[in-house]
Amino acid sequence: MSMNTQGRPTKPTAANANTETFTGNRGLDHEEPLLFEIGRPDNSGVDLPEPKVVRSRLGGLERTAPLGLPGLSEPETMRHYVRLSRKNYAIDSGLYPLGSCTMKHNPRLNEKMARLPGFSDLHPLAPRSMTQGALALMEALSGYLMELTGMHAVALSPKAGAHGELCGMLAIKAAHDAKGSKRNVVLVPDSAHGTNPATAAFMGYTVKSIPARADGTVAADAVKAALGPDVAAIMLTNPNTCGLFEPEIVEIARAVHEAGAYFYCDGANFNAIVGKVRPGDLGVDAMHINLHKTFSTPHGGGGPGSGPVVLSEALAPFAPVPFVTKGGGGYRLVEHAATAGEGKAPLGRLTAFHGQMGMFVRALTYMLSHGSDGMRQASEDAVLSANYIRAGLRDVMSQPFGDQPCMHEVLFDDAWLKDTGVTTLDFAKAMIDEGYHPMTMYFPLVVHGAMLIEPTESESKQSLDLFVATLRDLARDAKTGNDKSRFKDAPRLAPRRRLDETRAAREPKLRWRPPTVPEAAE
Ligand SMILES: *Cc1c(COP(=O)(O)O)cnc(C)c1O
Repeated sequence: MSMNTQGRPTKPTAANANTETFTGNRGLDHEEPLLFEIGRPDNSGVDLPEPKVVRSRLGGLERTAPLGLPGLSEPETMRHYVRLSRKNYAIDSGLYPLGSCTMKHNPRLNEKMARLPGFSDLHPLAPRSMTQGALALMEALSGYLMELTGMHAVALSPKAGAHGELCGMLAIKAAHDAKGSKRNVVLVPDSAHGTNPATAAFMGYTVKSIPARADGTVAADAVKAALGPDVAAIMLTNPNTCGLFEPEIVEIARAVHEAGAYFYCDGANFNAIVGKVRPGDLGVDAMHINLHKTFSTPHGGGGPGSGPVVLSEALAPFAPVPFVTKGGGGYRLVEHAATAGEGKAPLGRLTAFHGQMGMFVRALTYMLSHGSDGMRQASEDAVLSANYIRAGLRDVMSQPFGDQPCMHEVLFDDAWLKDTGVTTLDFAKAMIDEGYHPMTMYFPLVVHGAMLIEPTESESKQSLDLFVATLRDLARDAKTGNDKSRFKDAPRLAPRRRLDETRAAREPKLRWRPPTVPEAAE
């Protein structure tokens, strides 16, 4: 029996990979066809009474052909979705080191609170007298977000980080418009997340890129050189997407303000600095906070995220509606610009209703259960975990900006894979066979073959040790092994092997059509 470097027996993986089964199932992991392939139109999980004959009022537009919906029994339906869910890798099933995404544990206490009927059964149009508790919760969450960031106002309604970027940049535009200042350029460092330039471009701004320095950070001099009367704002991430704190951020903020522009900070990496640094003190004017990253609410298959935006004193008047205020009759949602009050000029509204209430409950639960010291410790532990991984791998993998401490995520490049024939993609696919969701790959774009690893504070030392040992084992094989099939054929043990990702993106097949039955010859 072969052993891994930790003395654990390893499975004969290659043999497993080639084992074929009659059903296509692999052990108790089931192959699962599409609902349309297993369902039958004439089948149903429930008994419904025959509908009464009614006079149609559809003016001849009623459907005459059968709907063709797949019918399944209740157990078949359950199995279909449970089997699909088992193909889904989740933070609840294992370490999820996706850099920049902060895949931390979602505490179950959050779920318990979000399911309290007073929150979960609330209708967004319920009268004010019935929603005082919910409004008080929104007010409390806003207060903590402002306290942690040192900012003056908060917009809770944006539904994701990218949506928050739009909100913050709209506030910046509203502030320029109010001054009658016409500016059409937004500065974005070339290490930025794609949503930054996308947001600026979506709003009609011209994006001007700021190159990163050799050490992975943004130089104040480079920003100063790009500033001018046409610049509306800079969008800067801090800590940046290379996992490094921007050391010249205060000087950058000062220069940006002197040029009459505003400072948008991408706050997706806030988990590195909660309780340590207040972005407001650094000169930030607007920043989104991904509740699904920093404040432990679920990422949940693309949603529901939540991306509240905090605003500086200069931008606070432009905060969108709705927002919560407290007056004589208790809490109230201000829904219209006209009733926003003295000195306020809301930029408009970003969503129907008020945002992701369930996420507000979870985020506030996280804050209250941790306390201020606990939130600070979470950030410290997140940074410690990333540096622990860095220390465990730095002699076998290469870091693009030299051997320097990182914040909450550690960045490697592919220089160490040179001449091995193994690419970042191959390495990531081999991690899947070892039971790990790969790290973020090929981002940030400024680093060749980037591998961005963010363990978060929720992993134990044992979990980090096994992860480091696994990556060391893979790294040794990539560099010295003769047989590269561990990488080139990976994933060998996943339900699906290597996919043609380019084709999947370029020619997405989004519609299922019933297989055509060949017509009988005349
Ligand atoms: C996640 C992320 C975003 C976008 O946030 P979403 O909530 O996914 O829309 C923006 N910038 C950075 C650096 C991120 O990591």
